[in-house]
Amino acid sequence: MLTEYIGMEEVLPGVWRVGVPLKGNPLKELNSYVVLGKAKGTKNLLIDTGFRTRACKEALLWGLSRLGVRMEETDILLTHLHADHCGNGPDLVKEGNRIFIGRTDGEIMVGAGEWKAESFGDAKRGRGVETIHGRKRERLREHGICPGLIEEMRKRAPSRTMAPCPDFADYTFLDEGDVLIAGQYRLRAIDAPGHTPGQMCFELEGTGAMILGDHVLFDITPNITDWPQVRDSLGNYLDSLTKLDGYDVKIPLPGHRKPGDYHGRIRQLKDHHKMRLEECRQAVKRLGKAGLYEIGGSMTWNIRVSGWDEFPPAQRWFALGECLAHLDHLKEMGQIEEHREGGVIWYEA
Ligand SMILES: [Zn+2]
Repeated sequence: MLTEYIGMEEVLPGVWRVGVPLKGNPLKELNSYVVLGKAKGTKNLLIDTGFRTRACKEALLWGLSRLGVRMEETDILLTHLHADHCGNGPDLVKEGNRIFIGRTDGEIMVGAGEWKAESFGDAKRGRGVETIHGRKRERLREHGICPGLIEEMRKRAPSRTMAPCPDFADYTFLDEGDVLIAGQYRLRAIDAPGHTPGQMCFELEGTGAMILGDHVLFDITPNITDWPQVRDSLGNYLDSLTKLDGYDVKIPLPGHRKPGDYHGRIRQLKDHHKMRLEECRQAVKRLGKAGLYEIGGSMTWNIRVSGWDEFPPAQRWFALGECLAHLDHLKEMGQIEEHREGGVIWYEA
């Protein structure tokens, strides 16, 4: 039964937030946004869509129906490739309408450009996100993580189990500076790589409002992980924070939870990663010759379990990825060194 627990509010005239519950997920809820087009004779624009589950789809459609939004008159915009944002896109889009996504994340999803399966040395792994996962698993193996644990983590990863229909490839790619017109608004695309290789934020020109995806979240910290083909995703993320700090944003519209003080939060996020980098560097120094699993296990994590080995597999996947992103950045800054012995990678400060 769909009830009033789905939060909805008008965040700007003709722009609504529709809360899509993410059951059992620590993120709790996705903020979908919809720009109503009718009054200005344009299509509606639905921004982000929830996991590809019946519960998410029904909640979103219920919210849209309350606003009189029909998918026949609605284009879809995806801020990035994560399943909680793009999962329902292909199932919701109607003929003659489009799904927009930033070029890089779009190419990853369909396995195009430099993200073709062939460029990872194995075309059989499947395309798009599956290919990325294949390469990520390989990287974890190179870091000495045991295959049983990798397989367990793979099976439970939401990016795989609730991802958009893999056969859909008809996305329209956006580049920096592209403008979408919906209702009375012009949404200008801004590259903000880091959280994913090609996440985009969207400035609603002249309003002080910014669709942030997961680039800036206010009461949780966006997950930053390593990505194949990306040398330093944390470095990219920090650069994107600096870039986005240059916009005069009065109405931040995050992909999860509540908004807050935009510029203050950017400062906090930078400080947070500075501290995490130092924690990571100290762990490498203290452990001497240490591998990823040990380093990850000796960092602090905000999760209610008794120890590293008790982490649920999906959370451990995120934690190891986050640790690796910090190691990549430290390596890039010349603060630690990576070594390889018997095919296994270890670090030294
Ligand atoms: Zn995300």
